[in-house]
Amino acid sequence: MPRRHLLPPPTPAERAVVAAAKARLDRLSLYPTPVDIRRVRILQTPWLFELPWFRRFDGYEAGPLVFLRRPLEQTSEDLIVHELCHVWQSQHRFLRMALSYLWEGYRDNRHEVEARLGRGDRRTLGGGAGRQQTAARHASREPSVGRSSGSPRERPVWPPRGAR
Ligand SMILES: [Zn+2]
Repeated sequence: MPRRHLLPPPTPAERAVVAAAKARLDRLSLYPTPVDIRRVRILQTPWLFELPWFRRFDGYEAGPLVFLRRPLEQTSEDLIVHELCHVWQSQHRFLRMALSYLWEGYRDNRHEVEARLGRGDRRTLGGGAGRQQTAARHASREPSVGRSSGSPRERPVWPPRGAR
């Protein structure tokens, strides 16, 4: 697989944060099988976040790739968990996930609500979860403290839907 050599091998720090994020997601039961992290890579691409569409985000997921605005050591684990949750979603419902942003928008999108659950909220989405989703959404709006990159801003999924 020559594609493997397009990227430098993951550093121990990258492996560690991906493993830690997976451990947090594994406590949620959103999908029948746990997130597969074998192909997941984290890339710092500050130039990407200079582009108009991406300016509002600090992280962006595309398939197995997670793009970060800042170096890994300046990025909160919460953001990695959030993005890895999108990786997980894409592994289980890629098409529905992509299309959902077209008709559900961003903020209340099911996939965003799920990804916010990984942020220290261990409740799962289940029957009658509307109230829980609301609670999680509101909690996620609060600025993170004690982390250098605590901004909750991150990315929508491809295709870019009409979020403001
Ligand atoms: Zn998201």
